[in-house]
Amino acid sequence: MKKIVILGATGSIGTNTLDIIQRFPDKFQVLGLTAGSSVEKLESLIKVFKPKVVALQNEKSAAALSKTLSASNVEVLSGNQGIVEVARHPEADLVISAIVGAAGLLPTLSAIRAKKNVAIANKEPLVMAGEIIRREATLNGVSILPIDSEHSAIFQVLNGEQRHSIKRIILTASGGPLLRFSNKEKEQVSLEEALAHPNWKMGPKISIDSATLMNKGLEIIEARWLFDVPPEQIDVVIHPQSIVHSMVEFVDRSVVAQMGLPDMRTPICYVLHYPRRAPISLPSLDLTEVGTLTFEKPDTTAFPLLKTAYTALEEGGTLPSVLNAANEEAVTAFLEKQISFGMINRIIQQTLEAHTPQSTETLDDVLEADRWARLEGKRWIKQCTVC
Ligand code: NAD
Ligand code: MG
Repeated sequence: MKKIVILGATGSIGTNTLDIIQRFPDKFQVLGLTAGSSVEKLESLIKVFKPKVVALQNEKSAAALSKTLSASNVEVLSGNQGIVEVARHPEADLVISAIVGAAGLLPTLSAIRAKKNVAIANKEPLVMAGEIIRREATLNGVSILPIDSEHSAIFQVLNGEQRHSIKRIILTASGGPLLRFSNKEKEQVSLEEALAHPNWKMGPKISIDSATLMNKGLEIIEARWLFDVPPEQIDVVIHPQSIVHSMVEFVDRSVVAQMGLPDMRTPICYVLHYPRRAPISLPSLDLTEVGTLTFEKPDTTAFPLLKTAYTALEEGGTLPSVLNAANEEAVTAFLEKQISFGMINRIIQQTLEAHTPQSTETLDDVLEADRWARLEGKRWIKQCTVC
């Protein structure tokens, strides 16, 4: 019986993970669940999965849940420290890292330092501190298994291959809901239009990242650290059907792709059972029904954040952390209808321009860059909400 902890259990990845776990009651036991503030959602998961320990980041929500569960033997922890405690629970065999944003960095690192294998969907910590996460995983002898569909595809393709056989990684991108919008149309797009991803049902932050193509930018950085491949060996191709989840070109010019219907339960099932595969009842990919698979070059003039992410990765140091924090602040402001869609890019560019890049030797350097970029990003957001 594998004992599982899910960080971000009430979200899109969290609930898809629980969907898979529920199908294998003899293989997995839910040990711990965490969430931000959603008491009711977490409470309903507790009823079904009966975890030993849970944590809510929001202290008030945790107190309310604690009161409701006072007669049960579920331990309720609170705050960032509570989440860290669940992440490094001594009985955990596998930690699913599915919090959204930088908030997942410390819990994920804590799990690694407690020698837990981690299955990671939460890409932002890899963008901020990929090198540190890699180093800590090696030091502690644990595996980092990718959940993100593109990275799962690459991981599956690389199974049994040698690192020096890779010529390049080709990440596919759907292009998001605004792929065919003109720059003028994109500028004033509504929140509903930007959230309406054509192929994937995901949380709000990643949905907006898909609309700006920043999600692919973050994924380039994620791939760099997960697979130890330099930026010049990572390409992006637009593939609107989201059937080919990514590809690897090998030195002998053989290109191997992984395909499937766009459903996160497939990569989640893979990491839960890794290194084996397990049968699940989901619709099969029928290529005759899909009919046409198309591929095109990304337009970095229409979607400048893709290029910005490459530059941040190439220059390194504090830049990826600043890029990520500025993006999180800008996306939050857009989701709260404080700024227009077009302003997301401008706030990120202005924050990056105002930054003096530094090297990141320690986690504190990364966290300091994150803190600085949030203040700077907020300053630009304030300016543009009054203008
Ligand atoms: P979501 O918004 O649906 O869920 C986020 C989860 O994190 C929730 O449980 C929420 O309660 C929790 N949370 C939010 N803020 C928190 C905080 N400050 N402290 C602690 N917990 C907090 O997000 P999602 O779509 O499931 O995405 C999660 C991560 O996985 C993101 O990094 C995303 O980029 C990545 N990812 C998601 C998908 C997908 O299909 N949804 C695919 C690939 C990668
Ligand atoms: Mg992805």
